[in-house]
Amino acid sequence: MNFKGHFITEIIIMLILWGIFEQITVSMIIYPIFFGTLIPDADLRFKSHRNIIFHSIIPNIIIWYYIPIMENLLFIISIVIHLVGDLLPMIKKRGGYACIDLFNLARLNTKWSAVWLGVNIITGISLFIMVI
Ligand SMILES: [Zn+2]
Repeated sequence: MNFKGHFITEIIIMLILWGIFEQITVSMIIYPIFFGTLIPDADLRFKSHRNIIFHSIIPNIIIWYYIPIMENLLFIISIVIHLVGDLLPMIKKRGGYACIDLFNLARLNTKWSAVWLGVNIITGISLFIMVI
């Protein structure tokens, strides 16, 4: 999924969450929308696209653990939304550059990339449901 696709998906899902949960305000979804769109694909700067750390919720869980505010919980969800977008080409078995990169040393194959994204997506959603 390209930048525009990620951005629009982020906005739609975040607005839905804002509509469902009373405790979520508009100001809380703004930074997750932008970061969820921009941060994972910032790995392009390091020429390690779909980097295994950038395309995971691990850094976000660490941030949320130390600063457990709603914005950071939504930041986890914004990364999950991004990862779902990146999972779609793998289901079509596009492979290659759609797969998860291990710091330019190797690339996971389509199946293991899908497993990595899937585990992160499920963990992120589970955490959100448990906390909210
Ligand atoms: Zn991406």
